[in-house]
Amino acid sequence: MTSAGMGRRIDELGRVVLPAEVRRTLGLAAGDELLVRVEGRSIVLTAREASCVFCDSAEATEDVLGRLVCATCLEHVRSGRTDGELVDPVARDLERGSDL
Ligand SMILES: [Zn+2]
Repeated sequence: MTSAGMGRRIDELGRVVLPAEVRRTLGLAAGDELLVRVEGRSIVLTAREASCVFCDSAEATEDVLGRLVCATCLEHVRSGRTDGELVDPVARDLERGSDL
């Protein structure tokens, strides 16, 4: 698709509406994030891949409260660990029990 000639005006708040054809072609929807960078006199908008909010992986993402989380990170969250190491919940409970 060539987008040359698609004139758009900036509104009072600095917003520009992306043409529907562009949104459809790239599969963009309200709430999707775009990366913005300037190259000379051009503003380049790049559609981000649907990826995990924690590790940026695009594999096996699941929507959790409106945010995409991959299976690995979801397991981290469910295990209650925050140091990045996966733990089997049963092994964790046994380990805790041995400390008592
Ligand atoms: Zn992840």
